[in-house]
Amino acid sequence: MGFPQKRMSHSHASEVRKAAQFIMESKSIKLSLCLVALIATPFSFTGAHAQFPGMAASRHYPWSDKSLSPDARADLAIKELTLDEKIQLLHGLGWQAILAPPESGPATRAIATMGFIPGVPRLGIPDLQMTDSVEGVSGAGVKGRYATALPSAEAMAAAWDPALSYEIGTLLGHEMRAMGFNMSLGSGINLIREPRDGRTFEYKGEDPLLAGTLAGQELKAEKALHLITDVKHFAVNDQDAGRIVANSIIGKRAMRESDLMAFQIALKDSGAGAVMCSYNRINGVYACENPYTLTNVLKHDFGFKGFVVSDWGGTQSTVKAAMAGLDVEMPGNDSFGAALKKAVEAGDVPMERLDDMVHRVLRTEFDAGIVDDPPQPESPDVLHGFEVAQKTEERAAVLLKNRGNLLPLSPASVKSIAVIGGHADAGVISGGGSSQVSPAGGNAVPPPPEIARNLMASFNELAVYHHSAPLKGIEEKAPNATVEFDPGTDPASAAALAKKSQVAIVFAVQHASEGMDLKDLSLPDNQDALIEAVAAANPHTIVVLETGGAVLMPWIDKVDGVLEAWYPGIRGSQAIACLLFGDTNPSGKLPLTFPRSEADLPHPIHVGPPKADADHPVPRLAGVPGLVGMFMGIGPSFDVHYDEGLKVGYKWYDSEKKPVLFPFGFGLSYTTYAYSGLTVQPGDSTTVSFTVKNTGKYAGSEIAQIYASLPDSAGEPPKRLVGFARVELKPGESKQVSVPISRDMLTIFDEASESWKLVPGNYVIRVGNSSRDLPLQQAISF
Ligand code: BGC
Repeated sequence: MGFPQKRMSHSHASEVRKAAQFIMESKSIKLSLCLVALIATPFSFTGAHAQFPGMAASRHYPWSDKSLSPDARADLAIKELTLDEKIQLLHGLGWQAILAPPESGPATRAIATMGFIPGVPRLGIPDLQMTDSVEGVSGAGVKGRYATALPSAEAMAAAWDPALSYEIGTLLGHEMRAMGFNMSLGSGINLIREPRDGRTFEYKGEDPLLAGTLAGQELKAEKALHLITDVKHFAVNDQDAGRIVANSIIGKRAMRESDLMAFQIALKDSGAGAVMCSYNRINGVYACENPYTLTNVLKHDFGFKGFVVSDWGGTQSTVKAAMAGLDVEMPGNDSFGAALKKAVEAGDVPMERLDDMVHRVLRTEFDAGIVDDPPQPESPDVLHGFEVAQKTEERAAVLLKNRGNLLPLSPASVKSIAVIGGHADAGVISGGGSSQVSPAGGNAVPPPPEIARNLMASFNELAVYHHSAPLKGIEEKAPNATVEFDPGTDPASAAALAKKSQVAIVFAVQHASEGMDLKDLSLPDNQDALIEAVAAANPHTIVVLETGGAVLMPWIDKVDGVLEAWYPGIRGSQAIACLLFGDTNPSGKLPLTFPRSEADLPHPIHVGPPKADADHPVPRLAGVPGLVGMFMGIGPSFDVHYDEGLKVGYKWYDSEKKPVLFPFGFGLSYTTYAYSGLTVQPGDSTTVSFTVKNTGKYAGSEIAQIYASLPDSAGEPPKRLVGFARVELKPGESKQVSVPISRDMLTIFDEASESWKLVPGNYVIRVGNSSRDLPLQQAISF
């Protein structure tokens, strides 16, 4: 039996109305009229092809000739720039433009003052209008515009679906352009070395191939729509607590084969025009003034031709940063404004380097197409956004447990359902910080006034819920059942409801945000006790997790089902209901390991900045005003030792032979799959072929995973992911799958010669459906 996807089956009208209301209340009245038309007719409305103010003019210049290469065009344009104009292209307008937007001057052209670099209108060089876009266009809310709130980036990774990532990039690209943005500040691909990192939800898991491949497709799609794209945060910014004062200590080989490898893959696949350097230091040197990572690795070894942009406030010097490879300071001009001009005039930054910085910006603008094809105002295609958001969530949710095949629930036989906790009657939770997409219709769970009023608290303490209530989705799927809700604040009351119901579904939420890390991996607010109480009252308890990443599950043996729904986005309700009731067969796989306890982590004790005292002074940081520093976790400097080195995520648990709660790559389905017939053809590109058969009763999509074990002499963790494929199969159907594995996936980084080497010896290729279930194996040698 197949699983027809039922989309837009309920409440989309009310959600579209909320989107409309959001826009009507906003200042962008022009767009709202388009949206009213859209509600009546579900298609995208393209507005007049007028350019946004400050975009490139249509005059013809020598560099307007599209037949020239981006480099040749940039060289022609640079010749016409004055020194002041060159400097102007290399920084934002200052924190004051963000904190108190001026009423006059070029900042008034900024769509979102958080990321704006004025262009040079007399030469047709456009303004750079930047927005974060990790899970939706977060810059939209600044001026009251509507944007699709997608599931979290971690969720996107759980879909293991490069084609879907391309579709997501296309949606983001259209929405950014529709609002006038021409530069995207996503995607984030820091590897999950520290699962308590408050930004885990913004990243794409713990493996460089998975993260790099998915980010590569997303950004490739955005670039195809003529946007400058960016990968961040370069590099080893693997925790957010004290991010601006943290010193990440890590070996070169470990860095090259893990964190930097993710960037290498994403850049190669996407042709992204910008790389955002991070706040932290790497082996004692700030990432935004680090010649090894910025120049030796990124610009030389990776051949990156675009520009390096600092994270917001991450520029700590002028000459040192410019000479190390930083090209653009954001959002301010403390280091790359008047100070850079002075340094150039004094010869401390040679004119050739200044021209290289400007060249990188301009060649990226030509290469991305923002000069030839500036954004045009458009209304958002709200319904298409819903469709992509729902599809993503349906592919991303991971079924972790399904005892006795309790799931999928049958609408015909289920008579009563208790829905408990997680504000499931109101909406779905999302992650906080710069990636936060403004909730259409406001926060579905309005915050207490003291948090709403407190700007600092609202940046990261405030949990934002999107209006997509899972309770509603469940009610609509089970019209003949009694569906009752309990908020879960009192475990006894929740247990009483569970006891009289046939099935209990507990929604457990975890808030996470940029600018902080999680205290621990436990569900907050007594939710473990709530689940225990409900499971004790009802043997058929299902837990739906809305978390940023991995959580501990002390109650795992007591519940029948667990669905990891991540931060589910604006269509979370519908997607979760489709999965629970079997309209959609779960296919997501974990992009990160769920450990059994924090004692099993590489660093059981989380390290944050020490308390400030005479021995631990708070450094003065050039790019960060004091007040802003408080958002960023400023404090005394401290070291984070990534001494697990190469052993990131599953590679750690494999090397240490530690059992885990759920391994990397794991995820159940309502059907079963069998693997057979492995053949491996070694070569410059090794071809791995095998057969996957759907041996169950439901159609489904299997994520087949290929891992390689390197020869012992390579000194590597037991295995690494080298390929994967999504295979769609009807019941009983078999498909032969062939996956090419490039030689680069099998090499190691040799620190002594600073080069990549294929170690001669025996390799084992392993194939299966999780990092710990690999039934097919074949040895090959090189
Ligand atoms: C974040 C970046 C983001 C930037 C602009 C910084 O605080 O670390 O990820 O792109 O702000 O919003």
